[in-house]
Amino acid sequence: MSDELASGLKCRLCGKLYPKEALNFCTDDFGPLEVVYDYDAVAASLSREVIRSRPRTMWRYRELLPIDGEPTVGLHVGCTPLVRADRLAKALGVEELYVKNDAVNHPSLSFKDRVVAVALSKAVELGFRTVGCASTGNLAGSVAANAAAAGLDAYILIPDGLEQGKVLGATIYGARVIAVEGNYDHVNRLCSQIAFKFGWGFVNVNLRPFYAEGSKSMGFEIAEDLGWRAPDNVVAPMAGGSLIGKLYKAFKEFEQLGIIDGPVSTKMFGAQATGCNPISNTVKTDALKVKPVRNPNTIAKSLAIGDPADGYFASQLIRETGGWSEDVDDEAIVAGMRLLAETEGIWAETAGGVTVAVAQKLLAQGRLSRDGSTVLCITGNGLKTQEALIERIAKPIVIKPKLEDFEALVEIGAPELVASAV
Ligand SMILES: *Cc1c(COP(=O)(O)O)cnc(C)c1O
Ligand SMILES: [Zn+2]
Repeated sequence: MSDELASGLKCRLCGKLYPKEALNFCTDDFGPLEVVYDYDAVAASLSREVIRSRPRTMWRYRELLPIDGEPTVGLHVGCTPLVRADRLAKALGVEELYVKNDAVNHPSLSFKDRVVAVALSKAVELGFRTVGCASTGNLAGSVAANAAAAGLDAYILIPDGLEQGKVLGATIYGARVIAVEGNYDHVNRLCSQIAFKFGWGFVNVNLRPFYAEGSKSMGFEIAEDLGWRAPDNVVAPMAGGSLIGKLYKAFKEFEQLGIIDGPVSTKMFGAQATGCNPISNTVKTDALKVKPVRNPNTIAKSLAIGDPADGYFASQLIRETGGWSEDVDDEAIVAGMRLLAETEGIWAETAGGVTVAVAQKLLAQGRLSRDGSTVLCITGNGLKTQEALIERIAKPIVIKPKLEDFEALVEIGAPELVASAV
């Protein structure tokens, strides 16, 4: 592939241009940098036919991902199921509902494999041998797994107190996992210092402009699997606020390239936990600036970023597209996880509960329409957040290995056999 497709980096505030290097902020105003593409060149080589002819991985859209050569990391990532969710639709009272299920993304069971595939492929291109990340959990596992497969050394920094499944799910790959006393914002600040001091490639620090582009692949896949159209509504969980913007950017790029028909009029809805709601609070109070949450406190730990890097842009996008944002408490999060599991057979992590419960809340408010097509983005796997459920879900009834014991249970209609509610 030619290296002219992604031509450089550009400041999102002042527009200053930078070469493609490991830098995430503008040296003039500290604005975030974003990858710039030559869309005429992309249009000359990318079409529906070309996409369809390629293997079902996120790399089928590679002209719109900022890698110059062939990708080298995360070759099997993406193309997760877009599930038509009729039973959940009925429960929520909506017409046409889909679940984009990144709970089963390869290899680490979250949407983070998309961003890591791009960031580490770029890290290899730029010559890094040591990589790392600041993580709320899923990024840890994804960087550790993909770095192991690529033979890169990895330093994974996490806030202490993360779920065991997330910690084990990074350590198993042989990465150096370091828990930092404090919350994600403390971890992130430390990682910025480490990345620049040691000259390592931190996927969501100095490689962030490339990393963030990986999220677009989720949007490309949604549009393709809907039969080459953008949905009317998307509900996406927000941590740093990057994913929601990149989903929308994906639809707009497909429109610009004539891959889908315009005009794209998707309304973007953002979901957060009430215990860490800096972006939804910004939207709901019609504020211009994002007020950081100093002490996040929620079971949705993967979304617990108190000072979101892309919070400003996410809140602007939500407003501009006619969407909205809401947040839900821990009890509603668990209820959302259960509803998704019981209606669609999909066990999402706590962030998935946030998405479902926020969708429900927005429907009740009339902010989210019951008509048209709606996609719920499920971004992580329930196996990794078992702590959130363990005290809230009924334990199995124990019986002797005797048919009479079982029959007695069925006869009395033991509630645990009928419904799992505690
Ligand atoms: C990282 C993450 C998100 C959202 O990330 P952004 O920082 O907003 O791009 C959503 N869900 C899960 C499970 C995540 O791990
Ligand atoms: Zn700038």
